[in-house]
Amino acid sequence: MTTDLHDLSEKYRGVAAFDLLQAMIERQFAGRIALVSSFGADAAVLLHMVAKIDPATPVLFLDTHKLFAETKTYKQQLVTGFGLTDVRVISPLAENERDLDGNGVLWASEPGRCCYFRKVLPLQRALEGFDAWITGRKQYQNIERSQLPQFERADQRIKINPLMGWQPDQVAEYFKIHDLQPHPLVAAGYPSIGCKPCTSPVAPHEDPRAGRWRGSDKTECGIHLSADGKMTRSATVQAPRAQGCG
Ligand code: SF4
Repeated sequence: MTTDLHDLSEKYRGVAAFDLLQAMIERQFAGRIALVSSFGADAAVLLHMVAKIDPATPVLFLDTHKLFAETKTYKQQLVTGFGLTDVRVISPLAENERDLDGNGVLWASEPGRCCYFRKVLPLQRALEGFDAWITGRKQYQNIERSQLPQFERADQRIKINPLMGWQPDQVAEYFKIHDLQPHPLVAAGYPSIGCKPCTSPVAPHEDPRAGRWRGSDKTECGIHLSADGKMTRSATVQAPRAQGCG
């Protein structure tokens, strides 16, 4: 089957999120695809869809060792509730943590390096053996994601964004229809939830991701950036830049 970005985009243009996921998991990339999930504010939507299609689909969860305790509890609740059977917890290497961030506050001085060894490198290792991965990113989340396409290519793999065009009311509707449990921090004003030191509540008029790395110009952790620090958009394969986050 084709892995050409143009062909994929043409073939699946306008296909609904669930149907797209089903095609990717059961046919296009059968046995070679994973869902990367933060188990954050909206994560239950894709996790629920994937579980309906095939609960044995690999789910990669990045535990940076800096997460909110609520996220870990929520993750376990969703895994159990949806019957997911292949959730893989991805963590930074112990030697990296010891050598690069012995006192655990690298996030305050060099968040790019912190994200790089806690997120970018572990995900690169976890994606070995997969040809495609699914993300939950959406265009409305911030200006950097406003042009997010259905398919991208990064590091020789295809990234699939089934919810790229969804709006907040569609996410809320999906939660309501399927009676999904919300992340406990959503009610506390967190519409986007990452690591505890780098996530703050968001005011109603702000972008959902305004609370991530608040006060800095950093908007992405690096797992979605190309070698030049921009969002991956083209068919050109590019490795993450050395410092990872920017
Ligand atoms: S989000 Fe913050 S704490 Fe988490 S890996 Fe990045 S810099 Fe470190």
